[in-house]
Amino acid sequence: MDLIRRVLDGASLSKTEWLSLICDEEAYPDIALHELASSIRDKVYGRRVFLRALVEFTSYCRNDCYYCGLRRSNGLAERYRLTPDEILSACSDGYAAGFRTFVLQGGEDAYWRDDRLVPLVRMIKQSCPEAAITLSVGERSRESYRALREAGADRYLLRHETADSVHYSLLHPADMSFGNRIGCLRTLKELGYQTGAGMMIGSPHSSAETLASDMVFLQSLKPEMVGIGPFIPHRDTPFGSERMGSVELTLRIISLVRIALPSALIPSTTALATASSDGQIAGLDAGANVIMPNITPVRERKKYLLYDGKKITGEEDGYNLAGIMERLSLAGYEGTLERGDFISVAASQHSW
Ligand code: SF4
Repeated sequence: MDLIRRVLDGASLSKTEWLSLICDEEAYPDIALHELASSIRDKVYGRRVFLRALVEFTSYCRNDCYYCGLRRSNGLAERYRLTPDEILSACSDGYAAGFRTFVLQGGEDAYWRDDRLVPLVRMIKQSCPEAAITLSVGERSRESYRALREAGADRYLLRHETADSVHYSLLHPADMSFGNRIGCLRTLKELGYQTGAGMMIGSPHSSAETLASDMVFLQSLKPEMVGIGPFIPHRDTPFGSERMGSVELTLRIISLVRIALPSALIPSTTALATASSDGQIAGLDAGANVIMPNITPVRERKKYLLYDGKKITGEEDGYNLAGIMERLSLAGYEGTLERGDFISVAASQHSW
């Protein structure tokens, strides 16, 4: 476990070293990685699992990512766009229920220009003053990110999807730029957002090498949040007949990310819950500490389909708080609605 020791001591590993950690299951068995990652999570955040209320407010998107059901070329996707009043009302209801983080997620929808999104963020902040707002609305200009931050947005999720530029070009059309995506992430960090990167595991053309590049990139960017889920195909996309990513490998990568970034906020994603019936708890057992129950109005929820079979009920339903809390408690966790901001902990402050 010498490589693990070095990561825990704060060393940045090379791509070759990450490759060993990803591939050498004999030297670094899954179970040992999961146990170590869980114990690190427990030391930083305890057994608390932060619940973020997710509002999927627009399914329109100008982009054409090959893996996504919301891509603009998917003429079969049912499109919807919540009104500002509907979004505010979802947040107000969620606030009354106790939620203290709202994640506003959508495609890159031209309708939501700054002159619409900035006032919305401001209004949510006014009506839910103790809540953190996380935005997940894709690539925008520095000026836009700045205006949204000044309006009160606290966090921003923008998965990099892959840190290998060639791989990126195989997942996206030519009008999408790897350099711009990475530039956006660095801008978000500079503007003081708690910034979330992340990637799909097992996406087409991915390999252990591309994952090793992801780990090198994450160690360098040091995002406050990292979203990791298995690739799940959507039938109406160019990758519709590709194989789903491995749940086991996803869990292994969650553990490695926790070990590399001890205080990161790591969701046990809906994709994981969709791919495996016990995926959400398995994600927590591998070191994750966030879940994102959905409070989008139910009539629209089933239209926001990034991939096939997306789970929208049970532990993914924000209106089923009692059920979510009970399920977490049975698994040895304590669900909490508090803001759950990133805690900055230097590796040297802890003996892991
Ligand atoms: S992944 Fe995001 S940017 Fe790409 S098509 Fe889907 S919603 Fe749009």
